[in-house]
Amino acid sequence: MNRAVVVVTGGTRGIGAAIARELAATCDLVLSYRSNADAATALRAELESLGASCELVQADVTVDGDIERLFDSAIARFGRIDGLVNNAGATMHIGPLAETPADVVRAVIELNLTAAVLCARRAVQLMSTRLGGTGGVIVNISSGAATLGSPGEYVHYAAAKAGIDALTTGLAKELGPEGIRVVGVAPGTIRTEIHADAGDAGRPDRVAARVPLGRAGEVGDIAPIVAWLFGPGAAFISGTTIRVAGGA
Ligand code: NAP
Repeated sequence: MNRAVVVVTGGTRGIGAAIARELAATCDLVLSYRSNADAATALRAELESLGASCELVQADVTVDGDIERLFDSAIARFGRIDGLVNNAGATMHIGPLAETPADVVRAVIELNLTAAVLCARRAVQLMSTRLGGTGGVIVNISSGAATLGSPGEYVHYAAAKAGIDALTTGLAKELGPEGIRVVGVAPGTIRTEIHADAGDAGRPDRVAARVPLGRAGEVGDIAPIVAWLFGPGAAFISGTTIRVAGGA
């Protein structure tokens, strides 16, 4: 049986890397990263030892030409794609909106919303049955922030993720007739380096007490659900966002 070919943006660290490990059992992978080549190279070796073929592409998804190069690399290596996980994202900064620099607000929205829309656009051009493709699956990584709003921390990030949820709703309706399912996954607070990178390494421990299930999440709470969405058990799921946030 042919292995599906799935592109995972930001697929070399954190939640994206965990998704890549789960998908490796059944899929070949194209993983993008922005700058951490060491993490990317180490993960590729691990995935290849699991039997997956893996193409790494250094590509900043906020740069149009890099998005083109990412998908062109996938086609050059595998000849087609069957899926996209729109995962690359960052909070970058933590604090009230009035104290967040304007360029940070723009960068957060550019990465967490605009880049994901443009990656979805490119994937659709390659997968839509109307455009000559064979169909596929798009999973958009949202956040519990989309409905909580993240006051005092990053309301602009929350607004971008709410945009992602609208993307999931609209694209699922647009693309159902073209053989593409579109599903969102909205994690709660998950232990990755995203928090330290925004200057708040202790955030998962701080919010854990507010989570009904009593803890912050781990990447292993998210990745199996994303991988399942690519399989036959999820064949009738589209246009919805699954919240994985411990009840928060
Ligand atoms: P992470 O551990 O910081 O990993 C981020 C990944 O995205 C890395 O592979 C990074 O590449 C890549 N990346 C960052 N900026 C990029 C850019 N401009 N172009 C291309 N790739 C870029 O983050 P994470 O916690 O796993 O987050 C993954 C997704 O889950 C994000 O969409 C995030 O918003 C969402 N999420 C996370 C949490 C949480 O609590 N962790 C909660 C809800 C939602 P480099 O390795 O090269 O830096």
